[in-house]
Parts: sequence; C-alpha cells; structure tokens
Amino acid sequence: MNLFSETGLREEILTAVHELGFEKPTPIQAKTIPHLLSSKQDLIAFAQTGTGKTAAFGLPSIHATDIKNKSTQTLILCPTRELCMQITKDLTNYAKYIKGLQVVAVYGGASIENQMKALSKGAQIVVGTPGRTKDLIKRKKLILGDVERVVLDEADEMLTMGFKEDLDAILAMTDEGKQTLLFSATMSKEIINITKKYMNDPVELSAARMNTGAENVNHVYYMVHAKDRYEVLKRIADINSNIYGIVFCRTRRETKEIASKLMHDGYNADALHGDLSQAQRDEVMNRFRTGQLQLLVATDVAARGLDVNNLTHIINFNLPDDLEVYIHRSGRTGRAGKSGTSIAIIHTRETRKIKDLERKFKIEFAKELVPNGKDICTKQLYMLIDKIERVEVDEKQIEPFLPAIYNKLEWLSREDLIKHFVSAEFNRFLEYYKNAKDINVSENQRPDRKEKREKRSRSDRRQTSFTRLFINVGTKNSLNPARLIGLINESLDSSEAEIGKIEILKNFSFFEIEEKMEAQLINALEGLRFSDVKLTVEVSQEKPTVLNRPRHKPKHKKARASKSAGKKRSDRSKRFGGGGGRKRSK
Ligand code: ADP
Ligand code: MG
Repeated sequence: MNLFSETGLREEILTAVHELGFEKPTPIQAKTIPHLLSSKQDLIAFAQTGTGKTAAFGLPSIHATDIKNKSTQTLILCPTRELCMQITKDLTNYAKYIKGLQVVAVYGGASIENQMKALSKGAQIVVGTPGRTKDLIKRKKLILGDVERVVLDEADEMLTMGFKEDLDAILAMTDEGKQTLLFSATMSKEIINITKKYMNDPVELSAARMNTGAENVNHVYYMVHAKDRYEVLKRIADINSNIYGIVFCRTRRETKEIASKLMHDGYNADALHGDLSQAQRDEVMNRFRTGQLQLLVATDVAARGLDVNNLTHIINFNLPDDLEVYIHRSGRTGRAGKSGTSIAIIHTRETRKIKDLERKFKIEFAKELVPNGKDICTKQLYMLIDKIERVEVDEKQIEPFLPAIYNKLEWLSREDLIKHFVSAEFNRFLEYYKNAKDINVSENQRPDRKEKREKRSRSDRRQTSFTRLFINVGTKNSLNPARLIGLINESLDSSEAEIGKIEILKNFSFFEIEEKMEAQLINALEGLRFSDVKLTVEVSQEKPTVLNRPRHKPKHKKARASKSAGKKRSDRSKRFGGGGGRKRSK
C-alpha cells in the first residue's frame, strides 16, 4: 500500500491527512490500517517511537465511528497526560472534516468536573490515562457499554509506570466482544502476559526496527574524559548555533545541574524533570515546542510525550544503561523526512556500549573529534560574515547618519574597517576559546579520576554499611531489578539512596539499602501497592552480604548501584573563565 487513497479510509479523513502533509502511510500504518478496516481480530503492533502509531490506530478508529451514536465507541489508554493531550490533538486534526465527532481527553492532575462535563456531552473517542479513566468509569461518567475497541498505546510504558492494576480493572469492565489493540515500542514478558490475559488470538504486526525516520539519523560519538562532558556539550552548541535539541541526562539532579550551568553560561536552555509542577512542565514544554527554547535538558521519563518534529540534535549526555532507550532517544530526531544527529558523549570505557548499539540495532556510529577552539571560532566567524553579507540594508533609515559615520571612520582603510567590525562582534568568542584545550581522548588513554571513581563506585560500597531488606514481591509480580530501583527511588522521592545487592525471587525479594536510609525507606514503602500487592518490607534476618566473600554471579541484571558516589564528589567543572557573559548570537 503506497498511498492513503488506497486504504479505503473515508474521504474526509484523506483530505485531513493530506493537509497535514502525510504523503504515504508509514510502514506500521501500511500494515495496521488495512487489518483494522477489515477485521475485528485483536492486534499487537510493535514499532519504535516516531513511526506514526497514533495515526495507525487513530485513522481506522475515526473511520469506524458511528457519528449518530454519541456514546463512547473507542477508548484509548496511554501513560501520561502529555500523550493524552497529544493523541487527542492528533485525532481531532484527523477528524477535522467529520462533523459531530468528539474526541475527549481524561487525565489526572486536572479538574475531573470539566472532564465529566465533556463526557456528558458525548464523546465517541475517549483518550485517557489509566488512573483517571478507571475513576470515571467507577463514577459512571464514562460508560463503556458501546465500546468497540480499546487501544493500549505505549503499553510498555504503562506497565513500567505501574498502571497494571488500573489496566486490569478497566479491561475487566469492557465488553468481551470488543477489539483490543496494543501498541508498544518494545516487547517484554509483562506485555506478553497482558496479551495472553486480555487478548483473543491477536495478530502480531511489527514494522522494521529502523523506520524511515531513523534512517535519517546520523549517529556520532565524541570520546572525552568524563569530567569534560559539559565542555563538549558547550562546544556542540557553539558550533551549531541553530541547534534545536534535547540533552538527555540520567537523573533529575544531573538534569537540573546541566541546565542551570548552560543557562548561566548564556545558552538558551532549560530543564524538564519530575520535580517540576505540572504548570512549570507545561510552560517549559511550550517554550520548547514553539522554538523559543533551543536546548531542553531532560530525563527520559520527563521527555515522554513531547512530540517535536524538527529537532536537529539529540545529545546523550550519558548513554543510558538500557540500550533500547538510546533508540527511543535518537528516534526523536530525523523525523518527517528531515535529517538529524544523535550524539553520544562517552569516555574511554564506554566504547563497548557503542559497539553493542551498533550490533544490536544495526546502526553505525561515526567517531568525531570534539571541535577545538579554532573550529568553533572559524564557524562562528563565517556565520558572522554571512550575516553581514545577507543583512538587509535599509537605505532610507540609515541615510541621515551616514555622512557623520563616514567622516568619523575616514581614517580607516577598507581592510582595517573589516578588522574592526569583525572584532567588535567576535572578540569575546576568541577570548574564550583562545586557550581552549583539545579534549579528545582515545580508547587506550588512561581513565581520568572521575571515570576511575565511576568504576570504583561499586567497590566504594565497601565503605557503606548496608541493611538487607525483605520485600513481599518477586518475579511473580513482575518485579525486576530496574523496577525495584524505580520503586525505591519513587517512594523516597529521590534517587540518592545507595542500593546494594538485589536478589529477586519468585514470591519475594531481598535487597540492600544503605543503613542510614533503612527506617525511612521501610516507612515509605509500607502500605504502597505494587502490581496489586500491598507491600510489606522487613529487615531480613540473614546477614547482609560480606563484600569480600567471593561473589557468585547474580542471575539478574546488575543493579545500577551506588548512585551517591556521584553526589559526594564535587565535580563541578571549572566555571567558564571570564567568557561567561557570552550571549547567543541570535
Ligand atoms: P509514535 O506514536 O509511533 O511515536 P506518532 O504517531 O507520534 O509516532 O508520529 C510521529 C510523527 O510522525 C508525528 O508528528 C506525526 O504527525 C508524523 N506522521 C505520522 N504519520 C505520518 C505519515 N504517514 N507521513 C508523515 N508524517 C507522519
Ligand atoms: Mg505514540
């Protein structure tokens, strides 16, 4: 199927899609649309971020809507408020020429009364986050009697975010005969469980891992010492003065720190992370979406649901532990036919990660050299010259001033005049980069202190006393080390507690937590729910692991431990000497 017109979708939809500039269906759309238009069979679709999944389920759902019937016919569940609004906006656009079709978004953190009002007016398509949706169903404001299809969008993310219980409840309340559609970027055991439990003989479709979007992505890495990461970031921004991109960091703290350094150093940047209020998040996202903000420093979770098409760069300030996440990040550039660059800033010990990425995802990285002072100054200089060449001269306006100016500059030759103009604009840049070092390193160079510390952080734990705790959930409840760490961080509302060894067993688990956090953590976890289970946490009677005892290889993935090792060091790279007042030249 090469054209939308061949799909058999309603004329009004085709017009709207055409106006949006969609020329032909993306691979996942080409596979799912015909299926959904012709069959009631359940569907599982895997395709990575940015492949057009919203239209893949949205267009057929709109097509199948009975406009005369005001009751809800399609229920779309997704993990975040932002996605909810995004999907609603997209669907409303697709249905622009269909009179009487209402798409309503319901999500937490906003007035439930308004949402109830909107529902009472009739909403054939409802897009909701699981918690709020469940709530509205319970209040009998969202009636599922006529629902013909339920879409689980970003199912993987909904499960990681702990919505399993809500999903269970909602799916149990829908009609047996409905069609269930599951869209996910990744496949996991939990997804398979959901599909087994709630789907009926589903057909499984997937689009090739590397979608058209990602083909336009240039993967690049720079190798420097860990302490120079921030310097690389600045140079990237300096050499690409029209940069429009996201800088991905691992933690909220790093996000805040990098964003405030950038702002302090005169860059057009801001942070997006979980500590912001909803209003603050909306504000930052809005400025970024509209291009007022050039660099958004964000964590992966915070950046979910932010759909911006023309990003020029994705910068991995740190590579993620989970390689799949890299693909999600980089898939945010190179969209909609444009090309983009995904940059990884790595240190000498991370080449293996690059190799793994290349092998696993069949992509290629180019190693590039961090631009040096001369490169950056040259680039900036030519941009300045270009600007001077292209600037529009308003003869009339400047005319009256010219005689006096000519008079004053008469003593300068043409060459001198050029030198003076260029220097006036450019001196600060030259000054800053005058002594800029070459910060590139090669694989066989020795690690710097910071990298050694990163490596040592595991053995550093010898100095930390741990308590071993028991928790009453295990693999049976879909617990895994990453989720356990997430649960701990979430309940403490910080990722600073040091976590030691983790053992996940079938019905329960053990993990180590730094001793001084013991009481606080037990308190925070007690009574919380995880996958339907009320949590119980106790100090385990068994002795905590003695660290110099030969260690058996844990079967599970290594937990990312010792986060606080990063906190203790004061690694603020030297403040921008003198050049701090440098302003963006735009
Ligand atoms: P996903 O849900 O798979 O991450 P989205 O549905 O958000 O992806 O789509 C990503 C972007 O691609 C959106 O901006 C969307 O408007 C655009 N898009 C979707 N389908 C097409 C198409 N057929 N042609 C061009 N652009 C498309
Ligand atoms: Mg999507």
